[in-house]
Amino acid sequence: MKQQDDSGKSEAFTDLLARVQACTVCAAHLPHPPRPILRVSPTAHLLIVGQAPGRRVHETGIPWNDPSGDLLRQWLGMTREQFHDVSRIAIVPTGLCYPGTVKGSDLPPRPECAPLWQPPLRAAMPGIRLTLLIGAYAQAYYLGKRRGRTLADTVHAWRDFAPDFLPLPHPSPRNRGWLKRNPWFEAEVIPILRERVGALLAAGDNDGAYLSY
Ligand code: SF4
Repeated sequence: MKQQDDSGKSEAFTDLLARVQACTVCAAHLPHPPRPILRVSPTAHLLIVGQAPGRRVHETGIPWNDPSGDLLRQWLGMTREQFHDVSRIAIVPTGLCYPGTVKGSDLPPRPECAPLWQPPLRAAMPGIRLTLLIGAYAQAYYLGKRRGRTLADTVHAWRDFAPDFLPLPHPSPRNRGWLKRNPWFEAEVIPILRERVGALLAAGDNDGAYLSY
């Protein structure tokens, strides 16, 4: 049996987080020293996998602390407090560090990051029952060839990925046009998202300790 400290953290979990925090694998390609931004907990039931931190998230160290996060919380029907309850909700983007921008747009997540850290972090959270795949990078990593031809095709086919995954568009202000062109998303998928997340969090035991960075 793994040893745990007073707050319930296993040594293996603490060691893994220390290794993530100390990661410098792609430091040469980042605009700032690495600052992995994630929320993880051995007791989490819901995992949110997005793209990579933007500049504001990098500066504050708080995931989804931007207009994209505001819309995501609106989709989920959650307050900030509920969203940041790390004992229930884990947040591990495809790229953990801010990759910088080019011509005002965020660069893609560093390709080294997801293969390196998604598998061990998921394995350290055995209670995860639903993973929200937000945007094309998260869908590419987790769904691979199972993805549709377009992001809309993938999201529209959400039933094909249940119960483990639910693909969503990125709630970036840049995607407001996509949302207008695809009204079925808010009419059909948002109610499913709220129903599934609500049921999951209501059913989950919330008795564990947590860690976050
Ligand atoms: S983006 Fe990922 S791989 Fe690169 S330094 Fe940060 S944690 Fe390491």
